[in-house]
Amino acid sequence: MQWQTDVDLTHRNSFGFPAVAERFVEIDQLEQLELALAEVEQHQWPLLILGGGSNLVFRENLPGAVISIATRGSHVLVDDENTAIIEVGAGENWHGFISQLLEKGLHGLENLALIPGNVGAAPVQNIGAYGVEMADCFHSLTAYDRETKALVQLSKDECLFGYRDSIFKSSQQGRYIIWCVRFVLSTVFSPKTQYRGIADYLAAQGIVEPTAYQVYQAVCDIRMSKLPLPSELGNAGSFFENPIVSEAVYSALKGQFPDLVAYPDRPGHFKLAAGWLIDKAGWKGRRVGPVGVYDKQALVLVNYGEGRASDLLQLAGEITHSVKQRFGVELRMEPRLYPA
Ligand SMILES: Cc1cc2nc3c(=O)[nH]c(=O)nc-3n(C[C@H](O)[C@H](O)[C@H](O)COP(=O)(O)OP(=O)(O)OC[C@H]3O[C@@H](n4cnc5c(N)ncnc54)[C@H](O)[C@@H]3O)c2cc1C
Repeated sequence: MQWQTDVDLTHRNSFGFPAVAERFVEIDQLEQLELALAEVEQHQWPLLILGGGSNLVFRENLPGAVISIATRGSHVLVDDENTAIIEVGAGENWHGFISQLLEKGLHGLENLALIPGNVGAAPVQNIGAYGVEMADCFHSLTAYDRETKALVQLSKDECLFGYRDSIFKSSQQGRYIIWCVRFVLSTVFSPKTQYRGIADYLAAQGIVEPTAYQVYQAVCDIRMSKLPLPSELGNAGSFFENPIVSEAVYSALKGQFPDLVAYPDRPGHFKLAAGWLIDKAGWKGRRVGPVGVYDKQALVLVNYGEGRASDLLQLAGEITHSVKQRFGVELRMEPRLYPA
């Protein structure tokens, strides 16, 4: 196990913010992880576990240590007539994994195609898109527990998945290092096309009973048309979560703004489309110096190239303030700010 020092991570975060890690190491062996963590603890270095860097905002250079988990490969653990359980290394690319599942005829995660990043980060915020969340097909995971200093298995219930949430992002942040993840998938395809964008796309092509490949392709095409490629325009996908409000707040807003976009959430609650709120507050397509709000999707903040996290956070603060003034709703940032 050999730390590299002063490693430039500008191209390892999807905003493309300049950041140098004091120490960096890529790890795919448990013994190496244990050695690295022993040093981290001995020197009390701050530690970041880095995946693809597509849900992080690097505020400045990264002191202490950065570990990238590079466990690779996938294999089927259980295969019966209708379902299969597949285990996949945390260091695998998420989209590559989804494409492999399609080839293997294992279904359930097609709607999450083309989400950037690694498998190990997917449980952290329970990634979701187009009416599906990772938790829908999650079975369990193996993680290194920094408290007990051992590998542990965590079940779906123990991970406490919620909307863009889990124990890894909230109550237990920093405790577990995800090593591999298990998913339970179906050998029988049942399309989830309730999301309007997918339904419209398929209808436009005259597809009534889509195959898994057609849904996967629809998701990829829609995403390509709406979201900027980080290699061309720095971004982290949705910058804000969709706020969840009580039915009373929703009804009051709907009365005032009949075109409000919202979806029923847990009983008595509605999820407001943050993109609609930001658009209505007049931010869509606006550029403020080196950063701005993407013109095709108001939920996406972008770095035009020379921006810094401070520019982005200033813009995010202004957007949050104006949405609060106009709608009385608080926006919450989705990516993690690091160092906090
Ligand atoms: C263009 C674009 C579109 C996007 N679309 C979506 C979308 O539709 N839905 C969605 O939910 N997200 C979306 N995202 C956000 C992002 O892709 C996901 O959150 C993704 O899971 C992040 O993966 P990553 O490997 O890049 O994680 P990173 O950004 O590297 O890390 C994210 C967090 O996970 C932690 N982490 C990473 N790996 C591990 C590990 N092995 N063990 C423990 N903690 C770990 C990190 O410490 C950090 O806190 C999008 C981002 C972009 C740039």
